[in-house]
Amino acid sequence: MCYDVIILGGGPAGLSAAIYARRACRKTLVLEEKPLCGGQVLDSHEVDNYPGVPGVSGFELGERLKAHAEKLGAEFVSAQAAKAVLGGAVKEVEAGGKRYEGRSLILATGARRRELGVPGEKELRGMGVSYCAVCDGAFFRGKDVAVIGGGDSALEDALFLARGCRKVYLVHRRAEFRGAKILQEKVENTENIELVRNRQAASIGGEGGRVSCLELRAGSGSERLDVEGVFIAVGAEPNTDLFKGQVKLDQAGYIAAGEDTKTSVEGVFAAGDVRTKQLRQVVTAAADGANAAASAERYLAREDA
Ligand code: NAP
Repeated sequence: MCYDVIILGGGPAGLSAAIYARRACRKTLVLEEKPLCGGQVLDSHEVDNYPGVPGVSGFELGERLKAHAEKLGAEFVSAQAAKAVLGGAVKEVEAGGKRYEGRSLILATGARRRELGVPGEKELRGMGVSYCAVCDGAFFRGKDVAVIGGGDSALEDALFLARGCRKVYLVHRRAEFRGAKILQEKVENTENIELVRNRQAASIGGEGGRVSCLELRAGSGSERLDVEGVFIAVGAEPNTDLFKGQVKLDQAGYIAAGEDTKTSVEGVFAAGDVRTKQLRQVVTAAADGANAAASAERYLAREDA
């Protein structure tokens, strides 16, 4: 059996693409490696910038998007894609030991948090070093933690952790944060968040196999924060490993595609955080999904003719 559209990734881009593909009555499969849909939005405690649903939790938004696509008849398989063959009229994807065929493919695999690359990070991962405040924050109730980064993710993580932790150090390598002003104001007005600006994380120290401190570099000097958790939020990297060598990537490693989401391969479209774009938000991912499904529909209609 050959699907009209196979969508890799069940985040806002992939799910929006599924909604639009189903409204075009195309046989649609969504492959998502995680048991829950939503992608990176699952890491957001609260999403306050998706129109119409102020303050919705990332979990609820993911569930709602999936329910919408399911109601319209999209099929879902929860399995990690191990291989994808993009070229040719029939695209092939291997996932969970099975092989799926599609006439078109929408790559909506998103991005993952980047590693910081300091000593102690790898060794103490899961033992106090985390990349997801919403997933792991509860383990640090009443404790002192540090968040590293200056973008939306770091600001959101700091605000989320401040609800349960005793103290949150927000460590940023510059004086200016790049995250949304509204989040900056909230952070500045939160009593148990201490801003540590112009400091570069140098290493993460441990005791008894668990995080016990964060060493910082400040000019030629150094400082130490006694913390039991270090949350790293220093940007994202696109999930493109499966497609490397098959599709054109931009200099930063994102899939090169414009607003029409067309990639360098016929019948293959890229939507959401994995695509070259200016603004990576849920709302732009959803818009990409719609565009990708529309481009796929035009492609399929041409092939059908
Ligand atoms: P980001 O916007 O790329 O910010 C990464 C931050 O980490 C920057 O402040 C950067 O510092 C810092 N950084 C990078 N490498 C570092 C290093 N080696 N050492 C120390 N600091 C380092 O990443 P993000 O916050 O993960 O956000 C990714 C995208 O998702 C953005 O487009 C963001 O707007 C979006 N997002 C949106 C929401 C929302 O709207 N609710 C929530 C989360 C994420 P510099 O500033 O000095 O470069």
